Amino acid sequence: MEVEISRRKFLQGTVAMSVVGATAATSLLSNEHAKPVKQGAVSFQPTKTGLTEGHDVATLCEMCVNKCAALARVENGIITKLNPNPMFPKSKNMLCARGNAGIQAVYDPDRLKYPMIRVGEKGEGKFKRVTWDEAYSAILNGTDKFPGLSKILEEEEDNRSSMLFCAGEGMAEHTFKQFYQAFGSANWLNHASICLQTVASGYGVTIGTYPQADLNNAEYIIMAGANRAEAIVTPDTMDAFKRTKGRGAKLICIDPRFTNTAAKADKWLAIKPGTDLAFVLALTYVTITEDLQNSAYIEANFKGYEEYKNSVLTNKYTPEWAEPITGIRAKDIYKIAREFAAAAPKAVYYPGRRSTFAKNDFQLRRAMAIFQAMHGAIDTKGGLIFGSKLALKPHEGLMPLYDRAQSRAITKSTDSKGHQGYDDCAVVSGGGSWISWRNRFLEGKMPYKVRGMFCYKHNPMMNMPNTQKTAEMLKKMELVVTIDTMPSDTVMYADVVLPECTYLERTDPVKTFGGVEPSFAVRNKVIDPMFETKPVMEIMKGLTTKISKPLFEISKKYDEELQDMINETGEAKAYAEFDLTLPFLHTQEELNHHAVANYPGAAEKLHHDGVFYPHQDEYYKKISANEHQYYPEKKKSYSVNGGKPKTASGKVECVIASFSAKGVDPFPIWRSEYEFYVPKGKFKLLTGRHAQFTQSGTSNNAMLRNLMPENFIWINKRVAEKKGIKFADMIEVSSSIGSTQLKAYPTEKIAPDQVFFIHGFGEESEELTWAYKNGGNDNKIIEDHIEPVYGAAAMHETNVEIRKV
Ligand code: SF4
Repeated sequence: MEVEISRRKFLQGTVAMSVVGATAATSLLSNEHAKPVKQGAVSFQPTKTGLTEGHDVATLCEMCVNKCAALARVENGIITKLNPNPMFPKSKNMLCARGNAGIQAVYDPDRLKYPMIRVGEKGEGKFKRVTWDEAYSAILNGTDKFPGLSKILEEEEDNRSSMLFCAGEGMAEHTFKQFYQAFGSANWLNHASICLQTVASGYGVTIGTYPQADLNNAEYIIMAGANRAEAIVTPDTMDAFKRTKGRGAKLICIDPRFTNTAAKADKWLAIKPGTDLAFVLALTYVTITEDLQNSAYIEANFKGYEEYKNSVLTNKYTPEWAEPITGIRAKDIYKIAREFAAAAPKAVYYPGRRSTFAKNDFQLRRAMAIFQAMHGAIDTKGGLIFGSKLALKPHEGLMPLYDRAQSRAITKSTDSKGHQGYDDCAVVSGGGSWISWRNRFLEGKMPYKVRGMFCYKHNPMMNMPNTQKTAEMLKKMELVVTIDTMPSDTVMYADVVLPECTYLERTDPVKTFGGVEPSFAVRNKVIDPMFETKPVMEIMKGLTTKISKPLFEISKKYDEELQDMINETGEAKAYAEFDLTLPFLHTQEELNHHAVANYPGAAEKLHHDGVFYPHQDEYYKKISANEHQYYPEKKKSYSVNGGKPKTASGKVECVIASFSAKGVDPFPIWRSEYEFYVPKGKFKLLTGRHAQFTQSGTSNNAMLRNLMPENFIWINKRVAEKKGIKFADMIEVSSSIGSTQLKAYPTEKIAPDQVFFIHGFGEESEELTWAYKNGGNDNKIIEDHIEPVYGAAAMHETNVEIRKV
């Protein structure tokens, strides 16, 4: 066989570049950009927190996903204070409680300090400290307790998909993903299916993108199932609430609970959980029948509108129909529809940033997007906005094609060896369906053997519904490698533990932040990594240096195409196509310098200020004590697409016919199985997050624990009285899959057939001093319900019983 082109594909982010000619590449950057900007102090001024002089380093917070800009004060090599960096348009001059407590992430005595290898039974949490080289060797060759990659890939005849890769959200997730791509597995799972999958996809397929809400200029906001005042306190949260209650924007809060957002809203309507879709369909009905929509906009920009409209009308989705389903009075629905239309296009049905709650969540997001667009309120000031983005310069990655690697998605034509993938839901997204994948693995329904996994910055033991099944999965995996900063419940199931340094000890990939005021921002290293920890870039470099050649030898044995290639081009050239070290040859600083090379001065600005955008020196101004101008009003990107959607067709997609073939409704309709129902004596379990905690990621943070020591279960006061439950009584909450215990909070702020508690508590790793058995773990009782389109975990579909312990 003649090999004409390289089998190596290069990627940048998610954008594939063309296949290039085979060369023995030693560098993935051109030389002029291979030099980093010098790292170090950016400003010196007398410290306010100690007796010595300190310096500030511009960095980015990683205590949650928002990535606010911070200035880290360093005195004598110790970080003594984190302050907000006023230069970043996204976070303005704000660092929330968690952001301030980021200092504890560095100095937490419990953090992982050294590489470790399992010596006890799986899940027992017994490890021995080893050197980095010993840890890499154990991954390659195994120990008497577990097999290494060599044995697994040898026995699976170089099926690279016999290893699973999974990752949590973070700026270095991309670095870990490059390892996954170079390794050649088809099995990648990320946080999407327990996070934003349905909202991002619902808006994506309908209007072409997951938009931002212009809360600064909206005059009418419907916030449903999103608890901005309590769950994530960022500058855009503040923008919204400083204008509610007669100060410029009317806020309607739709939530089963009386939350802090409800308290700050102009109106709160308690909806039955999982029935938001009926509410939106009824709003749409009023809009159509009272001719409140922007007909000219619909005429020019909609596809399939008539069919959707007919469905809404013929199904009679009236407010009167919706009232018993949602629990919201018909007259309120009429009023909201009329007020929204009157304020449009400065009106927002807030898309939300939450995970999936109900099985109909994807269709709910579609209905919300269509309703919003019916008023011409997309890509416009005061509505939903697309914003613009500064382009990063692509750099090359490595994605070899391994002939023996089996596929993930079912392919129409299977090859002669009968290779085929699997199908867990209607649409297999890039991030996959975590629950479906886990259950398929446990039920032995994988079309080939998956025997091990790499897990980066991810804690599925705490974050995935049905903790018991996740534990079973981790026990069944023969080789589990975790890369993390803390000894989480998942780390306890590892065979090899690779300690990553915290976000304040590393430089991460520069990121472009799109929006009305686009910018680049970077996480600069503040102090050197403590103990023996390393950034993931260096971990990957060390690991791939150890495993690349030995694994290539296995490929040589089983991969016929590779054998042909070696015959044709020689082994050295062929190896260059499979050299796993290639993506990790450069430092992160070098890659960042290269990424912003199209913007003169950007690298220096990012190093000094942590932020860059064109004309920054000219535009950036302090307006008042805590207000800054980033872009002049005229230069802001409120509208970037002429008010049109960004779909491939250029139209709002009301009807997606191809979904029908997958068993998915082509447009949003209501189905009777969506109705809220709780058997007598049970309660619908609702969960959520709190702005002082980021899931389990901050559960051991002693500073944050001072603010909120544990989670409590909300129980309706009258129900609690009947059951003899008082404040702080210990309660057992149980479902069909397990139970958890936490203290009671009787309150009128929740309906009698529902209970609620905050996610992220109740870890069982004894290595976590503060988080160990502190509060209740919702995922021990949330059942395996998924929404069927993307296989996202439906978090509010579980009924529970409660009893006083
Ligand atoms: S919202 Fe708070 S925790 Fe999240 S990035 Fe910003 S400062 Fe950090």
